Amino acid sequence: MKNGLKKKDWILIAVILCVAGLTVLVHTFIGGAGANRVIVKIEGAIEGIYSLSEDREVEINGGTNLLKIKNGEASMSWADCPDQLCVHQKPVSLNRESIICLPNKVVVEVESSGNREFDAVTN
Ligand SMILES: [Zn+2]
Repeated sequence: MKNGLKKKDWILIAVILCVAGLTVLVHTFIGGAGANRVIVKIEGAIEGIYSLSEDREVEINGGTNLLKIKNGEASMSWADCPDQLCVHQKPVSLNRESIICLPNKVVVEVESSGNREFDAVTN
């Protein structure tokens, strides 16, 4: 009887671990597939690509602009440009929305990962 119970416990633990593992996998997969990214370009050249699902601050162009990613949105939190238009732009989060800093030739553009293949074909 004692041994039987023990075996049952181990099976239960194994099942729980499996379910937990699957949940993490599914969550990672769905989260990754639906996540948007921001592409940072300087003079048309890609400097970096950052996930909007990860809160962070990114120095752009050697520190002329500071990009802030928070709660799935990207905004320009600081810039050394004279017009400050980029800093006053609304945070972007949807596909094809962008923040442009003309004086520094910085473009921050949102790309949803669902459209990536389509872009690859049309370009
Ligand atoms: Zn600017």
